[in-house]
Amino acid sequence: MGLTFDDLPLRPELRGEEPYGAPQLDVPVLLNVNENPYPPSERIVADIASAVAEAARSLNRYPDREAWALRQDLAAYLGHDLTAAQVWAANGSNEVMLHLLLAFGGPSRVALSFAPTYSMYPEYARDTLTTWITGRRADDFTIDVEHAVAQIKQHAPSVVLLASPNNPTGTALPLSLVEAVCDVAPGVVVVDEAYGEFRRDGTPSALSLLPRFPKLAVSRTMSKAFAFAGGRLGYLAADSVVVDALRIVRLPYHLSAVTQAVARAALRNADELLARVAELRVRRDETVLWLRSLGLVAADSDANFVLFGTFPDRHAVWQGLLDRGVLIRETGPDGWLRVSIGTADEMAAFRAALQEVLGS
Ligand code: PMP
Repeated sequence: MGLTFDDLPLRPELRGEEPYGAPQLDVPVLLNVNENPYPPSERIVADIASAVAEAARSLNRYPDREAWALRQDLAAYLGHDLTAAQVWAANGSNEVMLHLLLAFGGPSRVALSFAPTYSMYPEYARDTLTTWITGRRADDFTIDVEHAVAQIKQHAPSVVLLASPNNPTGTALPLSLVEAVCDVAPGVVVVDEAYGEFRRDGTPSALSLLPRFPKLAVSRTMSKAFAFAGGRLGYLAADSVVVDALRIVRLPYHLSAVTQAVARAALRNADELLARVAELRVRRDETVLWLRSLGLVAADSDANFVLFGTFPDRHAVWQGLLDRGVLIRETGPDGWLRVSIGTADEMAAFRAALQEVLGS
């Protein structure tokens, strides 16, 4: 008999756990992990390649531990008069969130969010020995202010996590909700704006609230709108003291010289990389209307995906689509499925496959 987990001193709460992740399958139409479907142009590929070559010349040295130049570029990109000292960066916003819970969570501390929400949050809590508590979202996936305030008063969380737009529902939160939460939260409030650039007009970013709420942090990523998921770069804007707390828990040299150089090259090309966002937003809105025209329910979305349903056997629908070469995500509340917004051709393939599966 080979080695099993039972032979290892694996932490008891990790027994029976599966590594997180959507299936990575080799199918023609990938609409399952909310990527931007458009690869960089050859001109940007060349720019990135020369940045890598430049970084390669000093790979014998450790990279800038503070990633200072990159943080300056990110601050300039974010605007709102932010400086590099108010910006943090890590390998994806997943790592930014882990840093937040390492610094502000821990044994006998509570992290609070509102379900359904991003399924990695409870994992950061588990890994940092933080108690994970969820309040609830309303039927339309918004958060009721009174419920949120009551949950915070009851549980006194050291971290509140608010995804806006939320994954998997696509729901953006009004700033009035974020303000009400910041008014009562005893600890740090994190607004996860991974999909911020996809918001519909009239739902502003929580970045504008930073000057008023020193314990507010707004996290972003280059993985989605920026079409840079493979580059692994997430970042956060907050008071410089919050950032200093994250610097304590990060691993030394956590951002490789190559990551820093490639992310800076991508930021130099922000306009071109972000150019398809408007088009994706239009296609998202069309997808919502099309799903509703079939008699399905589709949640209003401010992100680059749509949660829709409801199906008595959602797995059968997911499998039917996969059998037709279209991979979407089986996630969210029972009966719902989530489709990421792809190219026009990919969405046409999705529509054709779904109509076949539903026999309509
Ligand atoms: N936050 C939310 C709400 C997400 O959906 C995701 C990715 N699915 C992330 C954070 C993490 O993204 P990344 O680590 O690629 O920045």
